[in-house]
Amino acid sequence: MRILIAEDDCTTRATLTGMLKKNGHEVVEAVNGVEAWQSLRQTDAPALAIIDWIMPEMDGLEVLRRVRGIQTDRPTYIIMLTIKGEKADIITGLDAGADDYLPKPFDHGELSARVEVGRRLIEMQAKLLDARNALAHEATHDPLTGILNRRAILDHLHKELSRARRHGGLIGVGMCDIDHFKQVNDTHGHQAGDEVLCGLSHILRESVREYDYLGRMGGEEFLVITPMKAGTEPLFVFERLCRQVSENPITTRSGVLSVTLSIGVACATAQSTVDELLAAADAALYRAKNEGRNRVCLADGRITG
Ligand code: GH3
Ligand code: MG
Ligand code: MG
Ligand code: MG
Repeated sequence: MRILIAEDDCTTRATLTGMLKKNGHEVVEAVNGVEAWQSLRQTDAPALAIIDWIMPEMDGLEVLRRVRGIQTDRPTYIIMLTIKGEKADIITGLDAGADDYLPKPFDHGELSARVEVGRRLIEMQAKLLDARNALAHEATHDPLTGILNRRAILDHLHKELSRARRHGGLIGVGMCDIDHFKQVNDTHGHQAGDEVLCGLSHILRESVREYDYLGRMGGEEFLVITPMKAGTEPLFVFERLCRQVSENPITTRSGVLSVTLSIGVACATAQSTVDELLAAADAALYRAKNEGRNRVCLADGRITG
């Protein structure tokens, strides 16, 4: 574990460093409070810190207060190690955000044991955080294709619409549906169908821009949200998607399969609701299917293919 030692007294610092290294830890040293703060404010700050109270430039208490002001999922575990051993000092140190407090002179065995307590807590916290992140990912992503699921993409649509309402931006949404996908399943099997869905998601992900959103609405239907600048051609992005899909056959265990997409596009105005927008995109998609598939239709009636 990476541990910061903030201690202005060089003898104590050397003792601590030697002890922690012997216990297998990697040690970072700071000789005053400013150096300690510089180290602890980094995003890859040491997981644990042993901090002296009385130090030049900035005292340990101020370091603590600053560090605890940082918003982070992985707060450094801080042990105060100080000559100030009065009850009132201990309370002040813990109140300022120390996780543990040990007065000097200290017993090596006790400090090692307390560092071990810190390590256990840090590990437990990391595990909880990983579990939380995994759950959050699961709740927002489609398990087959790895892209956003229906709930998450619709959440983004709600957010983008309110942003557009506030700032007067423009948004295009494209409802994309694979053409004759049932035939892929019927001819090559459901497994090949799944591989096509994955391959297609990959193509779409590569084709959309950094600030676009892509999600799977369900089945073989995908939604793309694209913020647009005033005066830009709303179909451009979607025509490119359509082309990318038709020009890039997908490799599956049942061979290389070509599919095409039909896309219905609707543009949001300041007044649009999510439901209206989706209904308009759906209606345009329906038209794209009727017009012969492998094409993009805009909700206002313009058709390109
Ligand atoms: P159209 O061009 O009119 O869209 O025709 P289509 O065959 O694509 O449309 P239809 O709605 O008739 O069929 C959609 C098919 O998508 C039927 C269903 O079995 C298949 N499907 C939906 N979800 C999945 C999935 O997760 N995996 C696989 N392999 N197939 C799926
Ligand atoms: Mg000191
Ligand atoms: Mg469909
Ligand atoms: Mg379809």
